[in-house]
Amino acid sequence: MTDDFQHNVPFEAPALGEPYLLTPGPLTTAYAVKKAMLRDWGSWDGDFREMTAELRRRLLAMIEDEHGQYDCVPIQGSGSFCVEAMLGSFVPRDSKVLVLANGAYGLRAAQTMEYIGRAFTLIDKGDYLPPRGSEVAAALDADPAITHVIAIHCETSSGILNPISEISEAVYSRGRKLLVDSMSAFGAVALEPGKIRFEAMVSSANKCIEGVPGFGFVIAKKSELEAAKGNSHSLSLDIHAQWATMQKTGQWRFTPPTHVVAAFLEALKMHEMEGGVAARGERYARNRDVMVGGMRDLGFETLLANQWLSPIIVTFFCPADEAFVFSRFYELMKDKGFIIYPGKLTVVESFRVGCIGRMDEHVMRRVVDAARQSLHEMGVTSAAPPSAALDERAKLAA
Ligand SMILES: *Cc1c(COP(=O)(O)O)cnc(C)c1O
Repeated sequence: MTDDFQHNVPFEAPALGEPYLLTPGPLTTAYAVKKAMLRDWGSWDGDFREMTAELRRRLLAMIEDEHGQYDCVPIQGSGSFCVEAMLGSFVPRDSKVLVLANGAYGLRAAQTMEYIGRAFTLIDKGDYLPPRGSEVAAALDADPAITHVIAIHCETSSGILNPISEISEAVYSRGRKLLVDSMSAFGAVALEPGKIRFEAMVSSANKCIEGVPGFGFVIAKKSELEAAKGNSHSLSLDIHAQWATMQKTGQWRFTPPTHVVAAFLEALKMHEMEGGVAARGERYARNRDVMVGGMRDLGFETLLANQWLSPIIVTFFCPADEAFVFSRFYELMKDKGFIIYPGKLTVVESFRVGCIGRMDEHVMRRVVDAARQSLHEMGVTSAAPPSAALDERAKLAA
């Protein structure tokens, strides 16, 4: 990060009285991003069409698509709308999908398959164990009907960074196609087709690009976009139709979230100024390292070993100490200016702290101070987890 960047765009605090959101989107955005929404745009007007074109160009530039094989299509709605659009548009009706799940978002992809009425089979690894390349290869060998695999890049419910590279190798070595939910990773964790093969991926405005919620986007091979004609179960989630209209008119098919797009363009410019995907990923990794180091010093333990920790969000076990009550911890943290996130593990109690958004390591040190102070106010003497939690974690090492 250059001095110039730090000088011009400091990591300002949110507006007075606004807490930091230590959540994986919506998250804390820059003032400039919020300010970009203070004007109205005509969706058919040339100025807005140029904004849409710039947005698509800037997103495509992030995947280092040397051969110009991919295109970018924004879709209205939250991230799940885009996952549904991707599955419905790129999976022909007579195809079969292998869904890789190790948390809530993988299971949501499976549920989406049920809704859209396409055949699928599920590998469910539970709360957080990673789906490995060898398991994917075995599942594909066992079922020749499978044509596509969907994988979650960072499974945000535990914070694990899934081994997407070995999954991709397994998929393409068996002649199948990979679709990726890179919702919470794209923009901070590289996903480049020159290194990891995939047909299509989705992400959304309010995660690592640090925009506000309102739309998501698909980056897909042009050949897949062309072949997707007539596949979709849904009018509004038909990626081929959205793409074809955008190519022809420069417009979105239905009312676009104009203010959200304006804010997102500002966020994209800040992403570039910071140094792109690598620099964004480094800042988040530093956020994580400072925060996890400080929390471990307080006695907290992470669900995952370092090797699996993403720079996006981290799951901690709740302390065994009876004086610890999560809802009270949440309120005490909020009083100090930080919104944390409840956990999603089914076996033991946990909570999550996000590392993404407009904040740096100095903010993360204050997060640790706030946690220390909150434990003290609750009368918790040790943040060590119950032994059941450590037994759970041992499964990952095994
Ligand atoms: C955020 C997220 C989604 C989409 O969630 P929405 O609430 O619909 O925006 C999907 N997958 C992953 C991995 C996510 O982190």
